[in-house]
Amino acid sequence: MESLKICFVSSEVSPFAKTGGLADVAAALPAALKNMEQDVRLMMPKYRMINDRKYVLRDVIRLREVHVELGGKVRTASGKTAFLPNTKVHVYFLFIPELFDRKGIYQDPATGKDFEDNAERFAYFSKAVVETLKLLYWQPDIIHCNEWQTALIPYYLKTVYADEEFFQGTKTVLTLHNLAYQGIFPLDLAPQLGIEENEAQPGGAFELNGQLNLLKGGILYADAITTVSERYAQEITTAEFGFGLEGVLKQRQKDLYGILNGVDYSVWNPETDRYLAAKYDAKSLDKKVENKKALCNQFKLPFQAETPLIGMVTRLVEQKGIDLVVDGIDELMKRGIQMVILGTGEEKYQTALKAAAEKYPEQLAVHFKFDEKLAHLIEGGADMFLMPSRFEPCGLNQMYSLKYGTVPIVRETGGLADTVENFDPQTGKGTGFTFQEFSVEAMLDAVDRALGAFQDKATWAKIQKAGMRKDFSWENSAKKYLKVYEKAKKKK
Ligand code: ADP
Repeated sequence: MESLKICFVSSEVSPFAKTGGLADVAAALPAALKNMEQDVRLMMPKYRMINDRKYVLRDVIRLREVHVELGGKVRTASGKTAFLPNTKVHVYFLFIPELFDRKGIYQDPATGKDFEDNAERFAYFSKAVVETLKLLYWQPDIIHCNEWQTALIPYYLKTVYADEEFFQGTKTVLTLHNLAYQGIFPLDLAPQLGIEENEAQPGGAFELNGQLNLLKGGILYADAITTVSERYAQEITTAEFGFGLEGVLKQRQKDLYGILNGVDYSVWNPETDRYLAAKYDAKSLDKKVENKKALCNQFKLPFQAETPLIGMVTRLVEQKGIDLVVDGIDELMKRGIQMVILGTGEEKYQTALKAAAEKYPEQLAVHFKFDEKLAHLIEGGADMFLMPSRFEPCGLNQMYSLKYGTVPIVRETGGLADTVENFDPQTGKGTGFTFQEFSVEAMLDAVDRALGAFQDKATWAKIQKAGMRKDFSWENSAKKYLKVYEKAKKKK
């Protein structure tokens, strides 16, 4: 296969700017593609938090003034470049001072509220990407867009730039990381975003339920669409998971592909993890208990080697099924287990979990902060890892857990269903414990099955090792993306 020119566009890229899994994917996938000899370059907005010196950003003479017009209003962007750390991937940072020189990526940290002009911010960024390509005289085969923030690019290419010779060979791929975020704005904003009137009224590509929906338009205009697991690709064509977009996703089903996110095993590997109290592998699982001890210390729980310890690292939001844990906490604690929870998010979950931790001081401990180091120690020190999500496009922690011999207990949805195989005592096969129904009873049933297996040391070690053998490295996924790019290239 000939090498492709791929322009990967994302509103966040790790380590420059990150609010979630998207940033990790936006760094790891381009790096994996580069390793496969593809000509891949990244584009992202330059937010204030991105330090020029720290990342050695350089001016690009050709990108001193990038004129970007939307609805008759011209703004001027400028571009700088740097390498993605530890790779040869070029990153272009596009700067429009009045839109991006502020604290925060999507929200004002002072108020915790979304910026009021987010639609405009990312529309200008999206159009600036296209203009930048022309100034660089770089004609990509594929522009790989991600989420609603870059979903206008396919539309601009097929309308504003439709007749430009320069883009005749360029196709677009749009990746959906979480259907819960669609870029929904008032309809009357359309002209300012360069969206034609007919596409912003009932029946138009960008209209849904009387509102402007940027993701919907992106889904309809992109040449191919991907999402982050095979199961989620099926789920989102149904009303339960589609958040109103199931109709258009069904319409595009032929061009919709599910590709699992990968894991960066240079960061998540118990053999090399510098945050662990003791490093270990499948042959030295006995050392894992040292991490359990350190973990109990950190959470101020009494260390009991034989007591099953369940860990959670999660955003405290409805998606993650925290309410099942809150509602089931008395039943869970009756089983004599211990639990540690690390998370940030909604107040109501924090209040409920804090009260539960006070009720069960020897068994349950919680930390409400974002702490990378502690997240690693939980993977290394817990016996089991719980993810009772309502929906989960891919999910990363269950894949980390498998690698760490920390047996996942997950709800069978999205990426969780695709990566964790329910243990069958009859055949002795499986890597974790799964449940289907979104209910406290179903979750407890899975926990009880896990606790039963934990009693038998040989069985438990077998389950741990089966998980540790799984390989979710990015290389596999990057190959699948290449196939999608090839298919998109062939589209008319
Ligand atoms: P989502 O992107 O929906 O939050 P994922 O499982 O795909 O869920 O990715 C979450 C990532 O963020 C994981 O790497 C997880 O370890 C990390 N994470 C979430 N909350 C915290 C926290 N409070 N402290 C440290 N890491 C966290």
